[in-house]
Amino acid sequence: MEVLWFAPRQLGASASSRQTWWCTARAESQISTTSILPLPGVQADKRGVKVSEFLQSVSNPAVYAAGDAANIGMPKLTPVAAYGGGIVAANLLKGNHRKVENVPVPTVAFTVPPLAAVGMNEDSATKQGLRFRVHQEDTANWYSSKRVAEDCSGFKVLIDEGN
Ligand SMILES: Cc1cc2nc3c(=O)[nH]c(=O)nc-3n(C[C@H](O)[C@H](O)[C@H](O)COP(=O)(O)OP(=O)(O)OC[C@H]3O[C@@H](n4cnc5c(N)ncnc54)[C@H](O)[C@@H]3O)c2cc1C
Repeated sequence: MEVLWFAPRQLGASASSRQTWWCTARAESQISTTSILPLPGVQADKRGVKVSEFLQSVSNPAVYAAGDAANIGMPKLTPVAAYGGGIVAANLLKGNHRKVENVPVPTVAFTVPPLAAVGMNEDSATKQGLRFRVHQEDTANWYSSKRVAEDCSGFKVLIDEGN
């Protein structure tokens, strides 16, 4: 595959191709609740373009979205954008065959102390009616905390009783 780039000042240039992709991006605030101009019929909400599991617009099959522009119910983070980008590229090249999977995405807030999480939290697990037990511990006395003079640290793990 050969990729041709056209800068705005080359607007008069032409080339032939088997497939033409128009790649653009929009900030969330610019995504209207009904459509993304000038693409007709692209449904979106404030979380982004509404897409299928193939990351294809649910209302305009010529449009795919990944990263911050797509509403896939995952956090808007760089690794999630890269993950979606690979799926979109694969589906554009070989037809819809790669689906987005609901993989757990770790998140970290680099505060003092830092806060990190992965998977479902206790509130969501309770709301979903899951049977689980909680294992939590204060780790302020652990070497890893004392080493950095951190007097406030701990963890909580939810263990699914069903598996
Ligand atoms: C302050 C801040 C801190 C963050 N910290 C983290 C972090 O610690 N870890 C993490 O994982 N994520 C972090 N994120 C989120 C992360 O930056 C985004 O999730 C990620 O960059 C999304 O990638 P993207 O390719 O979808 O969009 P972007 O990275 O936003 O790329 C879109 C590109 O499209 C361009 N563009 C816009 N409009 C047009 C147009 N009309 N035509 C052509 N090009 C256009 C833009 O200039 C931009 O280069 C942070 C975000 C912010 C704002």
